[in-house]
Amino acid sequence: MAREYVEFPIVEAARRCGLVLDPRTLRREEVEASCPFCRDHGPGKYHLSLNTSKNQYRCNLCGAHGNSVSLYARLHSITNKEAYLELTKDTRVYPLPSQPVPQTQERTPKALEERHAVYSEMLSFLTLSDKHRENLLERGLSDERIERNGYRSMPETPQARRLLAKLVGSSHDLLGIPGFYTRDAQWTVAGPNGFLIPVRNQDGLIQGLKIRLDDADKPGRKYRWLSSRDRHLENGTRSYSWIHVTGDRSRKRAFLTEGPLKGDVASFLANDALFICTGGVNAIKGLRETILDLGVTEIVEAMDMDQMTNPQVRNAILTMRREVQKLPGVRYSKYTWNPAYKGVDDYFLSRVAAM
Ligand SMILES: [Zn+2]
Repeated sequence: MAREYVEFPIVEAARRCGLVLDPRTLRREEVEASCPFCRDHGPGKYHLSLNTSKNQYRCNLCGAHGNSVSLYARLHSITNKEAYLELTKDTRVYPLPSQPVPQTQERTPKALEERHAVYSEMLSFLTLSDKHRENLLERGLSDERIERNGYRSMPETPQARRLLAKLVGSSHDLLGIPGFYTRDAQWTVAGPNGFLIPVRNQDGLIQGLKIRLDDADKPGRKYRWLSSRDRHLENGTRSYSWIHVTGDRSRKRAFLTEGPLKGDVASFLANDALFICTGGVNAIKGLRETILDLGVTEIVEAMDMDQMTNPQVRNAILTMRREVQKLPGVRYSKYTWNPAYKGVDDYFLSRVAAM
């Protein structure tokens, strides 16, 4: 028997969510409430409008919007279907209304599948500028490989970034996706200008995006994760340092290096060799799992040649090495090359150029 869809009163849904309502507005068509998403950027305010004739909510500050069912779903982290079933259950139990607590803790990123879906869509709306393509070609990549790896230029103007967030946001919830945050009630994208490097797991799913900066803010800091950590009061989300896998995933031998773009380039120049790339010498979370999941039997360390000269970096590399050497059934060796070339990508490029 088909259940008839009942539009659920928005004020009732808000009460069941424990939202604080402005009592002076309770008789109006637009009832005002404290916004549980942006916390009104300060306590004691009511930026969330509940439209009682359409049963919709909208925050005039952060732009969060939807209907009774999606409000309940979002605040309870359940699906709309589950929320609908909850709401249509008869209940006399209401949580005590409480002022939204300011979000002091950083928001954790959404699950991999959701990040992959949002980032894939985001990249589909973007292009690669000539300047950035030239940079990638100089590193030794081909046009075909550049296309396949999915590099894109960051939109440079605030308008272009808002438009991008709007396009992606029309079919995805952007809360919990590193890089996105709200400004003046609209979603937008944080981060410096540059080109985006998709960082993929062993199944090719996009974990996160790294930006190759046009202008390094500090010497030696040319790469940064796409993140809206600094904007966590404005619905922003931090990024983690994810492990990148590139090249032929059926290989039994994998090279281990630092930096996803370095790995992409070296893999391409070395006949699609399998590369596992950390986001930094200290960022080895997930490395064990990645290696085990790939089922490789040999790991060849190919960190930059100059890295063993800095004691801190050296210690981090030794820690990583011990971590990998603990893995059963995995042979570990170190790849060495002419130290005139800093990275394995430069070395491979020099050999290709000499041929
Ligand atoms: Zn809000």
